[in-house]
Order: sequence, then structure tokens, then C-alpha cells
Amino acid sequence: MSHVGDAPAVLGGAPVRRGQYPAWPAWDRDDRDGLLAVLDSGEWWQGGGDVAAGFAAEFAAYHGAHHGLAMTNGTHTIEAALAACDVGDGDEVIVPGITFFASASAALAVNATPVLVDIDPETLCIDVAAAEAAVTARTRAVLAVHVAGAAADLDALTDLCDRRGLRLVEDCAHAHGTFWRGRGVGSWGDFGSFSMQQSKLMTAGEGGVLICNDERLRDRAWSYADCGRVAGEWFYHHPHYGSNLRMTEWQGAVLRAQLGRFPEQNRVRNENAVALGSALEEIPGLRPQRRDPRMDSQGSYCFVFHYDPEEFAGLPLRSFEAALAAEGIPVSVSYPSLSDLSIFRDGNFAPRMRANAPTIDYSSVHLPRAEHAAASTVWLEHRMLLGDREDVLDVARAASRIRHHAAAIASAG
Ligand SMILES: *Cc1c(COP(=O)(O)O)cnc(C)c1O
Repeated sequence: MSHVGDAPAVLGGAPVRRGQYPAWPAWDRDDRDGLLAVLDSGEWWQGGGDVAAGFAAEFAAYHGAHHGLAMTNGTHTIEAALAACDVGDGDEVIVPGITFFASASAALAVNATPVLVDIDPETLCIDVAAAEAAVTARTRAVLAVHVAGAAADLDALTDLCDRRGLRLVEDCAHAHGTFWRGRGVGSWGDFGSFSMQQSKLMTAGEGGVLICNDERLRDRAWSYADCGRVAGEWFYHHPHYGSNLRMTEWQGAVLRAQLGRFPEQNRVRNENAVALGSALEEIPGLRPQRRDPRMDSQGSYCFVFHYDPEEFAGLPLRSFEAALAAEGIPVSVSYPSLSDLSIFRDGNFAPRMRANAPTIDYSSVHLPRAEHAAASTVWLEHRMLLGDREDVLDVARAASRIRHHAAAIASAG
């Protein structure tokens, strides 16, 4: 049994853990059977089969939305959502600083300008007051990201967008299984965008689902993703601009199997995340990402906690992470703030925009809270929450041991 006084692994002690955390992705016979059924059907695309479309409909229903569209990935789903909302050249989309690049690049893909705003320091999600302060006559949409599965304040966001006549697109790439006041995220805004890329909570290697409630918006997104066609009309009738963003039936087959297992995985991850959060709260200098009480469950893409080096003898974040890794606790890393990406800093953000290229000088945009969060949070992969209670409590045991020896670790360099 590990003891807090034992020498930490970075200083030659025995690590808290030797075992592995569960691997990701996970699959079983259902995924295999589904794939072989698609193979044998000879219908490998959505034009002939109904597996991907069926999965998207089931997924939408699980999240409380009327419609679901199965697409290539979670970047294209945001792009299709913005295009369906008629966001384009000269328009501005408000995007929070802590997120994956795609949240901003999708706005650029439809020739709109991403306007970067700061985050709530505790949830790491968009600061709604900052979003409101950034609204101009050109603003068309707010893109809210449910960071690491923690819901952004959907009550305040829907209120803001209603009052100001803006579209709300929820980037739910981290938030499969996050429920807000009884209903799935992604069903609150005009669109909810989900990624099924390899690292996500449900995956076919690549993939995306766009959910919504409004039939007209659904039809527009569908058309954008299917070469500008109109459902039910002639195959070579293309009344709108669109591209090909269709998910394959292979992906649909795997995702259907993943969805079957998902509610149970989500329950296990939630219980483990709450237990780990309580254990970390006992350690001075560590603070789990805030779970808004209006959130019924959090589909934790990552388990995130804040780290204050002052409570760890000044040990820098990267050294703390290395010490955790040495104890057998694998760590991933925060996104940098979008305001720190070189595409914005260097002015290469508008490859195809001309007259309406953004007038924003991104090199002077700073998001202090996003930049601080990027430099002071620890991110653990969701697969670690799929173990048993002792597996997740090992994270707190390792952190306690590191804190106990922080001065020695810091001086050992
Ligand atoms: C993964 C991710 C995306 C993009 O999804 P892809 O399927 O990889 O294109 C978008 N937004 C966020 C926040 C993500 O983490």
C-alpha cells in the first residue's frame, strides 16, 4: 500500500502504480458484427445503406434532439452548422479561447471571422459576459464549447442569443453524455456538433454527428453535406452550394455498437470523476474543473484539474506532470489558448478572404484567463475514468506524495 511519505518515483522511489489504465478505443463483438454486416450488404455509403443515418438518429434522440446527421468529422459538422445558419463572408463568430483549433477554423472555412473571447476560469468554458461584450453589428453566431465535457452556461447563452438575435452552435466534441437540466447538450442551441475521432468518447477513428431540432436548419445542413442536393430530389439536381461531408457506413456500424455501450461507460466515468474530484479537493493547490450543479452528468472527454505551484514548493506544472507520469499516472496536456496559435499571431488566418478579411489584429488579442488556464491545468484522458475506484484514487495518492516531497523534487530539477 502506498504511503504519502514514500519516496516519489522521480526521486527513485517505487511508483504508486505499475498497472495500466484501460485502453482506448474499446470494442467488442458488436462492432465486429456490425462491420461485417456492412461488408456483406455491399452498401458501404449512405446513398445505399441506413446504418450511419440510423446511428445519427439514435444518437440525436439520446441527446434529446429531433434530427441527427452523420458526417465525416467534428470539424465539418461545425462548418456545416455555420453554413446552414447562413454565416459567411463579413460575419463574425464568437469563439472561446480554450478549445481545439477546429472551433475557430470552421468559422474561417465559411469565410467568417472568429472573434476570440475569454473563458470562465473555473469551468474553462466561454465567459458569457465576455461573449456579450464582443457582440457587434457583424456578429452572427456564438460557438460555445463544452470543455472536457463540462457544460457551458446554456441558460445564459440561450438567453444572450435570443436577446441579440444570434445563432448558438454548441461544439460538443468533448461532451457526449453531458446533460444539462435533464436534456443533452447540443439540443439547446441551433445545432450541436459532435466528433467521433479516435480520442473522443465514442469513436470510429473519424466521424461526426450534427444534431438539431429545426427541420429547415436540418435540411440546409443536410444539403451542405451532400453536395448541395435536396433530399428526395433528382441525384444531379444541385440547387445550393455544398460539399461531400458524408460519413461511411463502416463508421456508422462501429458507432452504433459504441452507442450501445455508452450509457454504462458514461455512468462509470461520472462516478469516478466525482470521486476523484473530491479526493483532489483535499489536496492544497489542486482544484477540479467546476461541475455546474445544473449539469446532471458530464461526459468527461478529459478529467481536468487546476494546479497551483505555490502549494507545491514552486514546482513548475511540467515538472509536476512529469512526476505524475513517473508514478504511473499518464497525463495529456491542455490546449494552448487560441490567442497563442501562430495562425492568428502571424496573420495567416484568412487564406481565401479578400475584401472582407478580418480587421482584427490578432497579435494584440490576449485572453488572460484562457492563457493562464492553458499553463496551469492538468488533463487526464477519459479512459482513466473507466477503471475502478482505486484506479482513479491513485491519481490523488500520487499527487499527495508529490506535494509531500515537492521541495526535494523542485531542487533536484
Ligand atoms: C476533436 C474536436 C473537434 C474536431 O473534431 P474532428 O472530428 O477531429 O474534426 C472540434 N472541436 C473540439 C473541441 C474538439 O476537441
